[in-house]
Amino acid sequence: MSVHEECGVFGIISNNTTTDVGRLSYYGLYALQHRGQEGCGIVVNHDGLFYSHKDLGLVSEVFGNEELSKFPAGEMAVGHVRYGTTGGNKRSNCQPIEVNHQKGRMALAHNGNLSNAAELRDELELSGAIFHTTSDTETIAYIITKERIKCGSIEDALTNAMDILKGAYSLVLMSPQKLICARDPHGFRPLCYGKTKDGSFIVASESCALHAVGAEFIRDVDPGEILVFTRQKDTADGYTVNVRSVQRHCYKEERKICIFEYIYFARPDSVIDGISVHSARVSAGRTLAKVHPVNADMVIGVPDSGLDAAIGYSLESGIPYGIGLIKNKYIGRTFIAPDHRLDQVKIKLAAIEDVVKGKRIVLIDDSIVRGTTSGRLVSLLKEAGAKEIHMRISAPPFLHPCYYGTDIDSEEHLIANKHSVSEIAGIIGADSLGYLPVEDLGCLMQERYDDYFSGYCSACFDGNYPTKVPECGSRDRFERPLSEVRKKEE
Ligand code: AMP
Repeated sequence: MSVHEECGVFGIISNNTTTDVGRLSYYGLYALQHRGQEGCGIVVNHDGLFYSHKDLGLVSEVFGNEELSKFPAGEMAVGHVRYGTTGGNKRSNCQPIEVNHQKGRMALAHNGNLSNAAELRDELELSGAIFHTTSDTETIAYIITKERIKCGSIEDALTNAMDILKGAYSLVLMSPQKLICARDPHGFRPLCYGKTKDGSFIVASESCALHAVGAEFIRDVDPGEILVFTRQKDTADGYTVNVRSVQRHCYKEERKICIFEYIYFARPDSVIDGISVHSARVSAGRTLAKVHPVNADMVIGVPDSGLDAAIGYSLESGIPYGIGLIKNKYIGRTFIAPDHRLDQVKIKLAAIEDVVKGKRIVLIDDSIVRGTTSGRLVSLLKEAGAKEIHMRISAPPFLHPCYYGTDIDSEEHLIANKHSVSEIAGIIGADSLGYLPVEDLGCLMQERYDDYFSGYCSACFDGNYPTKVPECGSRDRFERPLSEVRKKEE
């Protein structure tokens, strides 16, 4: 089994006493919904007291007017959207996680996966720690709290915790008086911040969430950086929000932003570490057209994640771009119910016969995992009368599991581990198949030729893991069944 952790985080600190920080978090999480559809939550901080609501479901399902109205106007809030990750799909695993300790209160939201979570948790359990959830995030909360006992401030505790935590984490946390965010020293997962016109600060996984709440992007949080936001009273009901950067962990590791954020995961209107996700995908499409040209009548993209690369392929090749597939807007990602993916493709996508009939089609998608989706799409288009289908994939073949928070199926289920490219073309029924070569992945980073900022993690394609990888990466590794527990005790 591979490790899964696909999430979105959001935080707000207001400069007055009347901001509806709960509702703003809801809008922010709505913009981050694509990062996780299984559960979500918001914790509002008013006068040092925390008010929370979290549950399984989409943001629109978990939060209605009733839930949002129960939140008081507050100083700060932290929010999270989650895809079933390390730890099962349970309500108790929904975030933000709240900790109440003699040294203070904390709410924590996390995107990413620790690569040393199992060791850390074993150590903590053996020293008496009791866990309520099965997710990595509680381990992070525990370690920060342990460090907090020794340190004078929560940011010092987090700085020390970052010496211990390995792997991917973009964090937003809130104490009664501070909003804090941090990005792991490799910067695997994105994190940025911005400011609203009235002076409140917003932290979010992607810039699209800043725009949703009317905030202007300031910058990405640097890999290894901690930002501490505090409020300073300046008028009867007004405050200034101060921002302080702690950089002890910056520039110590190679920068390793997940390349799959650009290929598939992030929203195309987001800009991550200075690179537009849309432009990165267009650039991948252009590269595909250069390395895998073909004579065809039309380029079409698989909605939504193949559309930008299809535009790139069309621009580079001169083959007209067309809309040959329509997506039902009211369906979430097929990915929500992987066991039923076959049926879901049919429900989710339909071919436009009038467009594709009699044509030689270049079909662009972002990735092939098991091959199910591609096979179904080729059939759909052929049934609609397409003469030839030339499949082009704007990522290299998936060969390895991800330990840093992208949901990639187990190695034995990855079709590219079992078959050659021409065999896969045959299996999915395509007339030809071409992947983005792994050595061309840099095209997604476009003009960022700077040594440090052009670094990325592509371990799922090439097996080059930037950290030590866990021996057991099972998604359910903390959901120990009795039989396994017994084996351990023997
Ligand atoms: P498959 O049918 O198993 O080959 O899956 C391929 C489809 O899954 C592609 O259309 C991708 O857009 C989508 N996909 C690939 N990776 C992921 C992921 N980590 N999360 C959700 N969907 C994905």
